[in-house]
Amino acid sequence: MAYDFDLFVIGAGSGGVRAARFAAGFGARVAVAESRYLGGTCVNVGCVPKKLLVYGAHYAEDIGQAQGYGWTIDGATFDWKALIANKDREIQRLNGIYRSILVDSGVTLLQAHARLVDAHTVEVEGKRYSAEHILIATGGWPHVPEIVGREHAITSNEAFYLESLPRRVLVVGGGYIAVEFASIFHGCGADTRLLYRGELFLRGFDGALRDHLKDEMIKKGVDLQFNADIVHIDKQADGSLLATLEDGRTLEADCIFYATGRRPMLDNLGLEQAGVALDARGYIAVDDEYRTSVSSILAIGDVIGRIQLTPVALAEGMAVARRLFKPEQYRKVDYATIPTAVFSLPNMATVGLTEEQAREKGYKVTIFESRFRPMKLTMTDSLERSLMKLVVDAETDRVLGCHMAGPDAGEIMQGLAVALKAGATKQVFDETMGIHPTAAEEFVTMR
Ligand code: FAD
Ligand code: NDP
Repeated sequence: MAYDFDLFVIGAGSGGVRAARFAAGFGARVAVAESRYLGGTCVNVGCVPKKLLVYGAHYAEDIGQAQGYGWTIDGATFDWKALIANKDREIQRLNGIYRSILVDSGVTLLQAHARLVDAHTVEVEGKRYSAEHILIATGGWPHVPEIVGREHAITSNEAFYLESLPRRVLVVGGGYIAVEFASIFHGCGADTRLLYRGELFLRGFDGALRDHLKDEMIKKGVDLQFNADIVHIDKQADGSLLATLEDGRTLEADCIFYATGRRPMLDNLGLEQAGVALDARGYIAVDDEYRTSVSSILAIGDVIGRIQLTPVALAEGMAVARRLFKPEQYRKVDYATIPTAVFSLPNMATVGLTEEQAREKGYKVTIFESRFRPMKLTMTDSLERSLMKLVVDAETDRVLGCHMAGPDAGEIMQGLAVALKAGATKQVFDETMGIHPTAAEEFVTMR
């Protein structure tokens, strides 16, 4: 049977664009439907604008510290509107680049919502298209718990477009987004409080790092409240918000920001009609080659709920394009030792096993830790300290995990991820010359 396309991709985010453009490059006839924004979450309301806002927030510290280096910066002021307008301009530029990438690769771009009709048919604006393979790459959407007054809360989607910086912000959640946005709001000058329902935020990261980040954020002036959760939110006559907590306390804020996880974006996608099954958590169920319960329909990225990171969605998109249209280059995605960073202030980054995970897995571990004041801060009033940590298998000497909290942690961790992937031992770290004077050299000088 002749299909309109070899591959129809639903969603032009990280995974969808990667799959579409490589499939087209391999000679496939490809269409992409995108209902909202080219580049998806990462480019529009995720990684990229988030990182720009983190840079913006960090200037508060830079300006304060400049005095130690002889600079007098009088009357520095901050304009949230200017930051957001400049960020919007940059995102628009990136949207254009994504358009060009697709169009120049020969992909047919449909800027509208797409719905599955059956195993080989997609409907866009009333028009039906047939395809041999259909790829669902529709990403995720913020999830806000069902509490009374949740309509008064915002999520990361809205935070990127706030018209002004709220005076008092309550951030709810203890994951990546909560911690990053608490740092953004605080750095930009808002009175910021983070509420997390558990004992300590960033569950799943190394315990020493979580404690360290907690201390550093408190030192900077973020009010961290653990074992705390909101039961309802009321809007007051003056427009401010009143959050009532489980323990009966009330907190006032001008903005309540929920970062309590994301759900897969499945709205009006026609999954039932096409017979695509979900897993027990509500994500699209796929096999290890991203086939759903309908073998011609595949799914990748946040919508399958494995690891919700852009490089992972990119790798999955690439794997799908190669398996279908360039099988000789196909390699399975390797989900082991995925490095990741939290762009909090200070940054935190990690690759491999945490100390807790290594012990749970039965390793006998040797721990190496270095805590120090970054050199750049020694001539300033800042009391910020960095933490670096190596988790080493005592029996084989293999480095199982690298962890860092401190400036540029994400930049430093990328190289270490290569070392871990290559199976480096502590001896290899020890025999590697440092680059002096850097913070990164601590990773090869810990004894
Ligand atoms: P998405 O990028 O979400 O793309 C899905 C696309 O599908 C969207 O454009 C959507 O509009 C479209 N779509 C949905 N339904 C339909 C439909 N029916 N028809 C047509 N189009 C549809 N990851 C990192 O690695 N580093 C970071 O620093 C980072 N920061 C983040 C910060 C925030 C605030 C958030 C929310 C996420 C962040 N992430 C980060 C995660 C990262 O953005 C996601 O893992 C990544 O975007 C997932 O890519 P995807 O292709 O699965 O989906
Ligand atoms: P996360 O899953 O990282 O964190 C969700 C947080 O919300 C957890 O602390 C969780 O608590 C808490 N939570 C969940 N449900 C409730 C509830 N009903 N009431 C109160 N608290 C609740 O999600 P995020 O939204 O922060 O981010 C989504 C994903 O996006 C991340 O997991 C990550 O994969 C990706 N991302 C990556 C970034 C990066 O690479 N720098 C940056 C931002 C996002 P508990 O721990 O107790 O379950």
